[in-house]
Amino acid sequence: MLKDNYGRSIDYLRISVTDRCNLRCVYCMPDTIKSGCHHDGKIASDSVLSYEEILRFVRAAAPLGIKKVRLTGGEPLVRSLIHELIRGIKSTEGIEELSLTTNGQRLSETAALMAECGLDRVNVSLDSLQPQRYAEITQGGSLDKAMAGIEAARAAGLLPIKLNMVPMSGVNDDEIEAFIRFGIRTGYQIRFIELMPTVVNEHIFNKGFIGSDEIRQRIEKEFLLTPLKVRKHGPARYFNVMSRHEPRSAGVIGIINAVTCRFCTQCNRLRLTSDGRLRPCLYSNIEVGLCSALRTNASKEDLQSLIIQAVDLKPERHHIPEDAASAASGAPFIMSGIGG
Ligand code: SAM
Ligand code: SF4
Repeated sequence: MLKDNYGRSIDYLRISVTDRCNLRCVYCMPDTIKSGCHHDGKIASDSVLSYEEILRFVRAAAPLGIKKVRLTGGEPLVRSLIHELIRGIKSTEGIEELSLTTNGQRLSETAALMAECGLDRVNVSLDSLQPQRYAEITQGGSLDKAMAGIEAARAAGLLPIKLNMVPMSGVNDDEIEAFIRFGIRTGYQIRFIELMPTVVNEHIFNKGFIGSDEIRQRIEKEFLLTPLKVRKHGPARYFNVMSRHEPRSAGVIGIINAVTCRFCTQCNRLRLTSDGRLRPCLYSNIEVGLCSALRTNASKEDLQSLIIQAVDLKPERHHIPEDAASAASGAPFIMSGIGG
């Protein structure tokens, strides 16, 4: 079992399989990001870990106690043959759960095969239920494709399906209630994620950030929220949600307050970046480089000592300042390469 210096057990690994994406969400990859990210999703860079390298890493990490893996990015479904990576990870002894976060644009073609290869479930990002607005926020995405992908994931049994929505003031915050009604109608779990400041989104963060308390107050005008006890290791708090007007219809929502709440005491995760750095905290520049070890055929034991080194460096807590201006100017990362 991996334990850090603050007594936390580390059993969850998030892997960014690529920093590329077929969309350009305004808060994640605005036009200012140029290098390494192509709309077509082609992998051109040597620095991105190969599937073989990722698998070697997972096979070293699992005996240390990593049980849960999530594939993310960038957009994981722009990497070809992603199902092969899924098969390899899921057949690794000790890996109990494998999930994936996607924008859904290629999910309708891939969901069934990924499920067959061992994927357990998916989270799909969906920031608007309005086609035109969805296209604007994602700078080119198709809401129809995302919806078809979500349906395909349901048909493939990739359950429960969680839909990630980042509410932004003046952009899509007027849809919070519509998302809840959509979740109640369909059974999908809606997760409202606080917008996080990064090096590329200062403008939108300063204008659009809505804290989880405000999100909750807005929801409670129309819905009754009952907290669910299960508070796992992440920043999400889950609630049963019921319409005040139609009390027989209910669903589950999550509110993820990565910025305003310090969930760090329960943090159980490590992140492997697309170019082979192991990052013990999303919001800290501390990292351990693995690329050369993976490319020089270092032994499993050598890889394991690098993993232990990263866990030893895991900071006690993140230091995202809670006022927007200093947060955005001090933010040390771009989400896509590290994995949101
Ligand atoms: N491309 C995939 C997707 O969009 O689901 C996976 C990668 S994306 C970086 C993972 C999640 O991070 C998405 O739900 C996205 O909305 C969220 N995200 C990206 N940038 C964010 C930011 N600055 N603040 C909060 N959430 C962010
Ligand atoms: Fe791409 Fe996901 Fe970032 Fe949107 S949030 S630009 S879909 S990586």
